[in-house]
Amino acid sequence: MSRYRKCAVRGCQDSVSVRHRFPNPTKFMYVFVQWVDCIGNEAVRDIDPITVYNRYRVCHAHFTVEDNYGNNRLRKDAVPSLNLPDQQISNATDEILGSSRTESGLLHKLHVTRETHLSPKAKLS
Ligand SMILES: [Zn+2]
Repeated sequence: MSRYRKCAVRGCQDSVSVRHRFPNPTKFMYVFVQWVDCIGNEAVRDIDPITVYNRYRVCHAHFTVEDNYGNNRLRKDAVPSLNLPDQQISNATDEILGSSRTESGLLHKLHVTRETHLSPKAKLS
């Protein structure tokens, strides 16, 4: 009885889907980083990319049909997008983009900018 190794996506209990390697970080680092970002696995963030590439797998349940190159191969630029642990990253981005359009968001930005300007002086004194 062969068992697939655990999927690297946080909380994923899948044990039947095909496993995919991470993109090779020496060739596709920008895709690799996107994988690490979206799978919500803190452990993977702290591990050397080459080790992640060699040891970790992400199951097929996180990829769309468009990511498929055929014969269970992924396109070079495919990034997991389905059944992910949470969407906190994209929600946070939406909030930042949304609030910056409002007046209060703009004021908050100005306040932060002012503090940033003041901090070097504070360090000097
Ligand atoms: Zn999975």
